[in-house]
Amino acid sequence: MSTEATLLARCNSKCELCSADAPLAPFVVAPHTQITVDHAVMLCDTCKGQIENPETVDVNHWRCLNDSMWSQEAPVQVMAWRQLKGLAAEQGWAQDLLDMMYMEEDVANWAAIGMDDDAEKPRDVNGVELKKGDDVTVIKDLPVKGSSQVIKQGTVIRGISLSDDPKLISGKANGQSMYVIAEYCRKK
Ligand SMILES: [Zn+2]
Repeated sequence: MSTEATLLARCNSKCELCSADAPLAPFVVAPHTQITVDHAVMLCDTCKGQIENPETVDVNHWRCLNDSMWSQEAPVQVMAWRQLKGLAAEQGWAQDLLDMMYMEEDVANWAAIGMDDDAEKPRDVNGVELKKGDDVTVIKDLPVKGSSQVIKQGTVIRGISLSDDPKLISGKANGQSMYVIAEYCRKK
């Protein structure tokens, strides 16, 4: 049997991430570059399109990972984990699924390759990673964009949120919601 036929048999001709009964194509799971049964998943156009163009992601489509993350197939686990990881900063349910997910150590290592997480995380002035819900102190007077106000040095922002941009966090100071540059804060 050809690789593609083997893959089609494995997935029962359904997308391995969203179970769509749609035309499927093999998708190589990076950093691998060759389509093999161990390193590829069968994806529908919807999944493939959103993975290749993350700016087109329809968050609700990926609720499908609730099921596919339990696949026995390592490449499917890796794809599910990576998609959840990408969603988890904004979507609590994705983080919940990640927390539940189980992978063998070598599969987990594969999943983490190339995620370049460190560059993507907001960090405070000391390089400490900032997480949703942290309290931070502003370390210098910061002008508030679009107004004449200034956030004073020493202002505490409680329960920050993360943003799409790892350089910015958001939170409330002086009763106002605002974005603040992460490295002008210190984690409390
Ligand atoms: Zn799909």
